[in-house]
Amino acid sequence: MSPTHDVIVIGLGGMGSAAAHHLAARGARVLGLEKFGPVHRHGSSHGGSRVTRQSYFEDPAYVPLLLRAYELYAELERSTGRPIATLCGGVMLGRPESRTVAGSLRSARTWDLPHEMLDAREVRRRFPTLAPAADEIALYEARAGFLRPENTVAAQLQLATQAGAGLHFQEPVTRWEALPGGRGVRVHTPEDTYTAGQLVICPGAWAPALLSDLGVAFTVERQIMHWFEPTGGTGPYVPERHPVYIWEDTGGVQIYGFPAIDGPGGGAKVAFFRRGTVCTPENVDRTVHEDEVRAMAGQAARLLPSLPGRHLTSVTCMYTNTPDEHFVLARHPAHPDSVTVACGFSGHGFKFVPVVGEILADLALTGRTAHPVELFAPGRLRTAAGSLAPSTPSAPGGVR
Ligand SMILES: Cc1cc2nc3c(=O)[nH]c(=O)nc-3n(C[C@H](O)[C@H](O)[C@H](O)COP(=O)(O)OP(=O)(O)OC[C@H]3O[C@@H](n4cnc5c(N)ncnc54)[C@H](O)[C@@H]3O)c2cc1C
Repeated sequence: MSPTHDVIVIGLGGMGSAAAHHLAARGARVLGLEKFGPVHRHGSSHGGSRVTRQSYFEDPAYVPLLLRAYELYAELERSTGRPIATLCGGVMLGRPESRTVAGSLRSARTWDLPHEMLDAREVRRRFPTLAPAADEIALYEARAGFLRPENTVAAQLQLATQAGAGLHFQEPVTRWEALPGGRGVRVHTPEDTYTAGQLVICPGAWAPALLSDLGVAFTVERQIMHWFEPTGGTGPYVPERHPVYIWEDTGGVQIYGFPAIDGPGGGAKVAFFRRGTVCTPENVDRTVHEDEVRAMAGQAARLLPSLPGRHLTSVTCMYTNTPDEHFVLARHPAHPDSVTVACGFSGHGFKFVPVVGEILADLALTGRTAHPVELFAPGRLRTAAGSLAPSTPSAPGGVR
């Protein structure tokens, strides 16, 4: 029996919608399968805004991918007319030796990225809402800013559909298997069983269930985004005057936040970077508690005294962390002929979404990519306990 599709994409969140778009645009017959509806709030790609930046403190190896992601985000806006990226500038703040400042500077220097170093006085002068301590400095990047995650996913789903992809929502994958001898894959849902030459798995926080044979110890983390109405109103917080920011305190705690981007009453969003609680998509507590709001307000007020005026709302989201917080983006080592995976984005994946789509299309259609993805090979994370099973015809791809 010949496969019904060239490629099946599991999960149509940030990464999966990008993959479906790039694959369909290259002429592949694509089937996308998504557990929830289009552009939903149950995973990792909601909440109105995501920081984007190029002076990447995590590792300079990400910078070439970011440069390409910026191009692809601009194309996505042009071709759909949806507003996605606003480059309002960004400050990475902390002591000079902090990871946030020193790491950002390392990437800026390595790749010769435009940036300015500001002392605390200059930060206060340019951005009067920010009150760094006298011994803190900032790397300012004019090309940092924010992305609109919901518009991104909607734009990618639109382009995928226009290019001929079949996208099935409310259709969860219950099990998948790679067929022996590189003869493709079989994917099961409550509705049907589908076959394809290639499978691309973009499961977000469901990685432990869908990729239990990958040998990676994922940790899913509950995260909270908080919106506050600043004391004195949002005037000084509008994106024309206010940058995105990441601030690291002397204890290594990072917070990040945005200008007020949702008009009057929308407030400004701020969050802790990491420091979440371990959860699963099934047991995640979606209620945000008063002590959590208080902790956020207290930390935010240390940098932005006027921000936590009035609490407006808080929303939860999930990170899927790998042990070293670098992504997993590769052919599946146990099924190298037919299965490609994109997961473990560890709370910093959104700014890469369209370039991940391009890489997934490369890997699924040609088995290789010209993009530098060596850092993201799952082999680096293989533990003795989670060592890879030999390539069996029906390795466990079941959802528990
Ligand atoms: C609070 C928060 C703030 C963040 N801030 C930033 C930031 O500022 N900058 C940044 O770059 N990144 C940020 N991130 C990280 C970024 O948003 C994520 O890395 C990215 O959204 C992950 O996309 P994804 O496609 O892997 O996951 P998702 O978008 O969650 O997509 C996974 C999809 O798979 C589907 N699925 C799962 N199991 C099945 C199944 N069995 N069958 C069918 N479908 C299935 C899910 O329903 C979901 O739609 C943040 C994340 C959070 C939570």
